[in-house]
Amino acid sequence: MSRKTPGRQHWPESISRPLVSPIQPSVVYTAESPDALDAQYEGQTKGFTYAREGHPNAEALADRLNALEGAEAGIVTGSGMAAVTAALMAVLKAGDHAIGGAQLYGRSLRLFRQELPRWGVETSLVDTTSLEAVEAALKPDTRLILIEVLSNPGLRVSDLDGILALGKERGVPVVVDNTFTTPALLRPLERGAAMVIESVTKILAGHSDVTLGYVGTSDAEIAARLTDVAVTTGMTPSPFDCWLAERGLMTFDLRFERAQSNAAALAEALARHPSVRAVYYPMRTDHPDSSRATRLLAGGSHLVSFEIAGGREETNAFVKALPDVAFAPTLGDVATTLSHAATSSHRAFTTDERAQMGLSEGFFRVSVGCEAPDDLISRVTAALDALAT
Ligand code: PLP
Repeated sequence: MSRKTPGRQHWPESISRPLVSPIQPSVVYTAESPDALDAQYEGQTKGFTYAREGHPNAEALADRLNALEGAEAGIVTGSGMAAVTAALMAVLKAGDHAIGGAQLYGRSLRLFRQELPRWGVETSLVDTTSLEAVEAALKPDTRLILIEVLSNPGLRVSDLDGILALGKERGVPVVVDNTFTTPALLRPLERGAAMVIESVTKILAGHSDVTLGYVGTSDAEIAARLTDVAVTTGMTPSPFDCWLAERGLMTFDLRFERAQSNAAALAEALARHPSVRAVYYPMRTDHPDSSRATRLLAGGSHLVSFEIAGGREETNAFVKALPDVAFAPTLGDVATTLSHAATSSHRAFTTDERAQMGLSEGFFRVSVGCEAPDDLISRVTAALDALAT
């Protein structure tokens, strides 16, 4: 029997194409000759060389995300935080000043408080619902403003259009982390943002089995910098994760539509319940930013926050009375998840600091999923009923 030593594999030829994107885990790509490789590196022919520099699954996913966000170009990264880091590194250098929203995601805040200053970038964190606060923080060497449009967990709405106009007037690029708002509600690039960021991990991929990020732009110079930073620092996503995310993205519109109608119905039910002290849903008229939310966002959010009375005893009892809703500090899963600011996103703050932010022990955020609405509402109201007895 003849034995072949392992060598170059021979992928079966096929005149037909697969309907679904194949997974391409190969780290390296062979070229026919030095001339052919030269032509590839010079951009005369298109082809992949080494997976950290780019691979088909990342490109297929980036193409879909670019279309969703209205971006000319974009990169997929190994996590949402890698995407935030890429956006910052693409434009900032030592000696610059950067402004961030005071209610950014916790790790983004840490970048502003801890990492950027170590790289020689001065930072200011401000309330981005107030245009005056952002304007007051501007300095002659401000080179970037990073905001999220819906804050966590209060779901306050940033003055996006005001900040974009200010950025344009002062020549400061505005970067929008669109993770909470999603391209279904908001396409920041079309309004004038320099970059849009997504934690694809959340509702875009949507099944809690992938950690990925994305940065999109329509500025060719920024696009080139983003690729440079991501390739050089090794922010490469795994082909398998990109493949899973592409598959999840196919149903994003459907999942989002269901999640946001469920969220609106849940917000109504919560507002009627005697055990609920307050409901925070940006499209409700009792939300402090409802008129801005209605102007800015093309629909309702899939996130609802609310507050129950009492202390840790009551919050423990409520969570235990809701075994069919996962208590987990994440968002965007196909099923509803419940998170608790005091023990997760805002655990680093003291009780007094949290109180100043309006976050009592009883403050919960719900990332609403795609369950049958009646089931979801009856489970949550039953858990609240149990509190009242
Ligand atoms: N941006 C926002 C608004 C987030 O909520 C998160 C994570 O929760 C991130 C960025 C970071 O994303 P990842 O967990 O994929 O790194």
